[in-house]
Amino acid sequence: MKLRRLTVFRHILPVKGGGYRMANAYVEHLESTIVRLESDCGVVGWGETCPVGSTYAPSHAAGAQAALQALAPGLMGTSIDQPVLVQRHMDSLLNGHSYAKAAIDIAVHDMLGKKCGKSIANLLGGAVRNRIPSYYASAVGSPDDIAMIAEEKAREGYPRMQVKISGRPVEIDIEVVTKVWERVGERMRLAVDGNRGMTTRDAILLSQSCRHIPFVLEQPCDALEDVIAIRNRLHHPVYIDESATDLATVIRVAGQGLVDGFGMKVTRIGGLTQMARFRDICEARHLPHTVDDAWGGDIIAAACVQLGATVIPRLFEGTWLAQPYIEGHYDTGSGVSIRNGHIDLPEGHGLGINPDPDLFSDEVCNFS
Ligand SMILES: [Mg+2]
Repeated sequence: MKLRRLTVFRHILPVKGGGYRMANAYVEHLESTIVRLESDCGVVGWGETCPVGSTYAPSHAAGAQAALQALAPGLMGTSIDQPVLVQRHMDSLLNGHSYAKAAIDIAVHDMLGKKCGKSIANLLGGAVRNRIPSYYASAVGSPDDIAMIAEEKAREGYPRMQVKISGRPVEIDIEVVTKVWERVGERMRLAVDGNRGMTTRDAILLSQSCRHIPFVLEQPCDALEDVIAIRNRLHHPVYIDESATDLATVIRVAGQGLVDGFGMKVTRIGGLTQMARFRDICEARHLPHTVDDAWGGDIIAAACVQLGATVIPRLFEGTWLAQPYIEGHYDTGSGVSIRNGHIDLPEGHGLGINPDPDLFSDEVCNFS
């Protein structure tokens, strides 16, 4: 199966309710980048990458599109039956830009699954269940508002909630965490995500002030070295997310026991090929982790759920989806949705979804 056509589309995803705030980002809409691959035997595969604005991570929509345009000519006519070889070939054409290469890697897996008559979960080791847990991530908000949302989400059946904090006085964040805990107690597991925005001082203050509340503290500080430096002064397990930029970093912190788990995003690590390796490293060191992406529509959601279904359940912290925050689906018949805090594994081959091609009209480039 050789690559005959590669098309890249720009697609705007408006945020429901007007906007979403994190410590280092505020977004009113997301610019997603969609990749459509077509093989010489007519098999079509879809990929997606959708950075959440331009300040969450060192990635942005225009960067993804430029990288894909740089890669595309060198990919034409190459064999796409072996995802590892495709990944190595992409690395030979362009250094870095994992978040752009991820869209190709996802589309290659989608095609391979369709060609072989298998879901991506079965290509990547096998699904251990057909319904996986999600978690709800709040925006940064007031203590009373976030506690009310936590109550709603506990009632909906979410097993876990991630409370976004930071970018303001730590006293407010301590109040948010305390009120959420008072409201929902042990009905949901809690993660508290600083999204790189805290000083080491504030992270220690928060953890010490909330020492009686069980939660995981996720990526409190910007630099990995800062997180490592304060770890022994925290009363909570610490996960990294944004700092886990590549497998070498994951191997280092997992191997040296520097963190207690990860928030991990499929596109940041470079796609499903790399995500499956990450899963296996975590399993070897018994480290819990999520399988997420930053934002995006049904394509990235399906990729996350397919891989999430293969994770050993006791280590799986769930899959976050942007779906509750954005309107509509790419696949109006079998789009990926959260019901009662859980997500059904899409049925069918490859990603298990069929995006409506008419939705994508803003073409960035088209190589054949
Ligand atoms: Mg995070």
